[in-house]
Amino acid sequence: MSADIIDGKAFAAGLRGRVGEAAGAFAKAAGRPAGLAVVLVGEDPASAVYVRSKGKATVAAGMASFEHRLPADTDQATLEALVDQLNADPAVDGILVQLPLPRHLDADAVLLRIDPDKDVDGFHPVNAGRLASGLPGFVPCTPLGCLMLLRDRLGDLSGKEAVVIGRSNIVGKPMAALLTADSATVTLAHSRTRDLPSHVGRADIVVAAVGRPNFVRGEWLKPGATVIDVGINRVEGGLVGDVDFASAVEVAGAITPVPGGVGPMTIAVLLRNTLVAAHRRAGVPLDDATL
Ligand code: NAP
Repeated sequence: MSADIIDGKAFAAGLRGRVGEAAGAFAKAAGRPAGLAVVLVGEDPASAVYVRSKGKATVAAGMASFEHRLPADTDQATLEALVDQLNADPAVDGILVQLPLPRHLDADAVLLRIDPDKDVDGFHPVNAGRLASGLPGFVPCTPLGCLMLLRDRLGDLSGKEAVVIGRSNIVGKPMAALLTADSATVTLAHSRTRDLPSHVGRADIVVAAVGRPNFVRGEWLKPGATVIDVGINRVEGGLVGDVDFASAVEVAGAITPVPGGVGPMTIAVLLRNTLVAAHRRAGVPLDDATL
């Protein structure tokens, strides 16, 4: 039997629509649009594409987009001075510094400099701590998008067995924290995990964020499992995920495709986080459960 395909593209379009409506209401209530500032250092072509599409999506959602492009040889002090300026700018609700930064720059120091209440990427340690402590803050966009897809598919996640493969600060760890907060029983696997297939084999939910093409095999899965493939790997012939789609689709109950699964969720959640930041900063109430 073939798994249901989880249409992240359609879900993301719906989320963007809801954010757009709420952004219009915010602009009326606050007398200004919500604003997202994106900082790009250097000319990495993939980063330039991401920044352009983030800017376009921000404007399409009725928010203000502030793009700052700095040359590749920008020094640490100049970049940090820009972050300080954006922290102080009342028109800016969210700040995103596009990673990776050129190697001579200290990305951790730059991320630490961002006001945690404008950290819509959720990478600041204060926001990681808030997530771990169950306090309101900002959650990294990709794992929050995965959680939205899982809730949409499965409803209540309470008591489900979940295996997250990968423990990065931007995907795996926050994903495990979100699933734990939703009362799933979570195993966080990584490169030192012994007998990964046995862990995956008891999971109702598998989230793969490994960065290895077609790594998770269909034979490992529990029949009917819900599989979220975060991986984006460029191989000859196009993009593939971290899950071997051809074998997994025969065993899983539902699976995200690559492309068209998790990928489109990331920008939609970034817009959502920016709108939430704007409401909090302006003191305008928002029921974020409606987004
Ligand atoms: P990362 O920082 O490289 O982390 C990869 C994780 O996978 C590490 O925790 C690593 O374990 C683990 N791992 C590596 N080999 C393994 C193995 N053989 N068995 C089990 N675990 C293994 O990657 P990331 O930034 O989290 O990204 C993961 C993937 O998601 C990449 O393909 C990336 O392109 C994609 N991604 C997509 C989006 C999106 O918008 N859709 C956003 C972000 C990332 P150790 O910690 O032990 O080294």
